[in-house]
Amino acid sequence: MLEKLYTIPINEAFEAADGCPFCALYKKLEGDELSLILGASMMEPDVREVTNKKGFCRDHFLKMHKAQKRLPLALMLESHLAEVQKMLKPPALSLKDKGESIAQSAKKLSESCYVCDRIEFHFEKMFSNACLLYDQDSDFRAKLKNQPYFCPEHYARYLATAKAALPKRRYTDFVDDIREVEEAYLAKLSDLIGRFCQKFDYHHAGEAWGEEKGAVLDSLAFFGVDTGEKKK
Ligand SMILES: [Zn+2]
Ligand SMILES: [Zn+2]
Repeated sequence: MLEKLYTIPINEAFEAADGCPFCALYKKLEGDELSLILGASMMEPDVREVTNKKGFCRDHFLKMHKAQKRLPLALMLESHLAEVQKMLKPPALSLKDKGESIAQSAKKLSESCYVCDRIEFHFEKMFSNACLLYDQDSDFRAKLKNQPYFCPEHYARYLATAKAALPKRRYTDFVDDIREVEEAYLAKLSDLIGRFCQKFDYHHAGEAWGEEKGAVLDSLAFFGVDTGEKKK
């Protein structure tokens, strides 16, 4: 079922046609979750119970640090560290190898992130709603064809979700449409990066730079890398 909570931001991201639309949606979800956790949610006991147990991945710890909300982060760390101390002690009464049970708990902790899980809950629905929109809305099909590209990770996920979500005929059209977008962009990008490299050949010394000047940043962005740099 289409849900407005998702179709509105999806339509906005697809209308912007600025890079991979799912990267833009991820960034928005991530921003919302980070400001919630460093703001209103942080002192809620139910939330704290979960953050104490799950903790955060490296990326999200770093992003919370960079948000410069020092006290909320410190309070969260205080109760999380207390929980981690308990977590990393092997059970007193167990026949299991102590080292092994500590390793298991440490691995579980290192792989869990409160923010990643919250994002994933919504992100999954973004993909299924983006498939339903393709099925039910001809305007959306036109928007899809107008995308610059999809990064490989989200290209894969959109295709896989569509295979399960769309009727067979629609799925075939979807694959044709999305491939056309992706393959045209890859051809363009390959040409640009080729021209960028040529500029370093003495035959081309002194030639003015054109669109190929941004080819490295464009290629990194295609692979989903947000360098934070602006093209000059
Ligand atoms: Zn992406
Ligand atoms: Zn995370």
